[in-house]
Amino acid sequence: MTNMDLIEKLEREKNLTDGEFVRIIEGLSERESQALFARARAVREREYGKDVYIRGLIEFSNICRNDCYYCGIRKSNANLERYRLTPEEIVSCAREGYSLGFRTFVLQSGEDAWFTESRLADIIRQIKKEFPDCAITLSVGERTREEYEAWFEAGADRYLLRHETADESHYRYLHPETMSLAHRKECLYTLREIGYQVGAGFMVGSPGQTVDNLVSDIRFLQDLKPHMIGIGPFLTHPDTPFADRENGSFSRTLILLATLRLLFPGVLLPATTALGTIAPDGREQGLLAGANVVMPNLSPTGVRKKYELYANKICTGEESAQCKNCLNLRVGSVGYKLAVSRGDSRIR
Ligand code: SAM
Repeated sequence: MTNMDLIEKLEREKNLTDGEFVRIIEGLSERESQALFARARAVREREYGKDVYIRGLIEFSNICRNDCYYCGIRKSNANLERYRLTPEEIVSCAREGYSLGFRTFVLQSGEDAWFTESRLADIIRQIKKEFPDCAITLSVGERTREEYEAWFEAGADRYLLRHETADESHYRYLHPETMSLAHRKECLYTLREIGYQVGAGFMVGSPGQTVDNLVSDIRFLQDLKPHMIGIGPFLTHPDTPFADRENGSFSRTLILLATLRLLFPGVLLPATTALGTIAPDGREQGLLAGANVVMPNLSPTGVRKKYELYANKICTGEESAQCKNCLNLRVGSVGYKLAVSRGDSRIR
């Protein structure tokens, strides 16, 4: 079977053998990659038309109890100035976002215990009361079932928790002993069971990652059946144990985006900030490879640089309105348009 046949098979059967996935991930010529992207685009346009959904990202605390070896806000990074927005500041970011046309807010943070079940539930209720037509996505890490349930009841709609890698030994390589892949996965299945629209995902080119690990990621996603999948290249941060490692590959990230679009036609797939950091037109290229979501920053400009997961993160100096305008132009430049809507997943 030629590589072009494989691309067709992937679209038709929404599956491949492990060996065939390996060929797609590392064996395509430039021309074949472009053919893959074109197929992914066609499927994305069939499912979502030309709309690109926007999520207003509010990075509300960089305080974290975890020590993931790749992450700039890990607790052992003593060079980082820590911050925590007040509940009023968080709601006011959402207010500004609403006036700019955002109908989904992503509340993301390190694993910060100050945000107890009731404190975060209050914030969710306040945003939902003021903006009932908006969706709230949480991305605050591994918490208890009771907390997840309370936040769902308070009005949270979606939850992002990248699994990071579905391979046990690779997970061990990236995280300290206090964390476990089994618990991460359990959280994702619990969130799904509760009724959240769930997002999993991984970094492309994280230290120690093999192509077989990526196949394991695909197999895990096939089992979980998430509504959203967040992937982006691994990018080094100088104050982590992986400071001297290489960044992930831009082209491999695009190939994986397109592969995921063909595997999961209705999935919400962001062109991430990390993709826009590794290449100046990274997010546009991501959209052309099948992505259909962008997540501009709504955090106050004073704290943006402090939420530095990796070096040279983009959009840390601009006002929210500038971010939105800039993205509007970028999305338009590749023939798509920003949608003013909640942008729910077609997957139920
Ligand atoms: N604490 C929450 C959690 O664990 O899900 C949310 C915040 S966490 C910093 C968000 C994501 O950033 C992680 O899931 C990880 O994939 C990504 N990330 C962290 N460090 C990164 C790096 N060096 N390069 C690229 N992405 C990174």
